[in-house]
Amino acid sequence: MIKYSGKYFDGVTSKQHLVQVAIVEDVKITLYFEDQELVIPFEEVNTIEHFGNQTTYFKIGKDFPYRTIEIDSAEVLQRTKKYSSVADKLHIDIAQGGIKNVILITAITFLFFGFLIVYGLPFLGEIIGGNIQKKKKKSIGEAYYKQFVASSKVDTFKTNSINKLIANYSLSAKYKINLTVVESEQKNAFALPGGYIVIFTGILEEMDKPEQLMGLVAHEVTHINHRHSMRALGRSISSYLLFSWVIGDAAGITSVLVENYNQFMALSYSRELEADADKTGAELMIKNKIDPKGMIELMNILKKEDKDGQQEFLQTHPLTENRISNLKKQLANQKEVPTPPPLAFFWQEFKK
Ligand SMILES: [Zn+2]
Repeated sequence: MIKYSGKYFDGVTSKQHLVQVAIVEDVKITLYFEDQELVIPFEEVNTIEHFGNQTTYFKIGKDFPYRTIEIDSAEVLQRTKKYSSVADKLHIDIAQGGIKNVILITAITFLFFGFLIVYGLPFLGEIIGGNIQKKKKKSIGEAYYKQFVASSKVDTFKTNSINKLIANYSLSAKYKINLTVVESEQKNAFALPGGYIVIFTGILEEMDKPEQLMGLVAHEVTHINHRHSMRALGRSISSYLLFSWVIGDAAGITSVLVENYNQFMALSYSRELEADADKTGAELMIKNKIDPKGMIELMNILKKEDKDGQQEFLQTHPLTENRISNLKKQLANQKEVPTPPPLAFFWQEFKK
């Protein structure tokens, strides 16, 4: 039997033994040294690693520190190549391909993580944000709402009358819609997670029909029903979310979100989320027998006002070219719906 020269490290002392090695694949490895004969059953070999063109390492045993046999022989390397793990193949490739492969592998690694951070992380954040439990969403929304209302002047009359009105419609199966009118010249409205909607008096003054108001409400309600704000927020603070999740701090996710009030207030929705809020919002109006064209009218009013691109509503709910034309297409076959008497009466009182 062929014997190869090698080195043996016993895993106990740092002493190296010069040995002769006989190999019977899948059966045993026999070491001959200092008048001893040491038989190692092949199943005790943990891994076989290769370096360069001729070095083979046999790691013996289950746990660290391993016993190691090192043999410098191209023949042994050939004979044991089939046992080498994927990681070892990489070692060989790097060793044989030199610096070119190192650069290539580094570049691929960076590209992979770059891609993950730019695309994967926000995507993951959106999913985490969207899937926060309903109860938690409610408490996050409530925290934002309280923080916002604390520094605002609420129009109690308008708040009460809109809430009374929308209680007659079926808008959300998941949440109780809690609407607040705030005195402000801002022409804007926004939805908070868990059912809260804030409307500024500035945008109400622009409206001349109750269908326009209901269009705004249906749009905001869809942002709530489809968890848009949590998804958008999750996207914008994805790295924090991932961090809380990785360290297993589920409670931390809620507090991270609550602490990001400012970030939340500066959010604007993506094109896709806006399109969804328009489309589903219009469907919600039809279901409630309200003329959905009110939503188009409201958009036209806001667009006309938006000469300098500073219109608040359009900044937080970006008005792309397509939004109005998509709605027109969707509602092309929609017949005129007269204003129902209760809605007309509400509007009369509301506008006083
Ligand atoms: Zn919107």
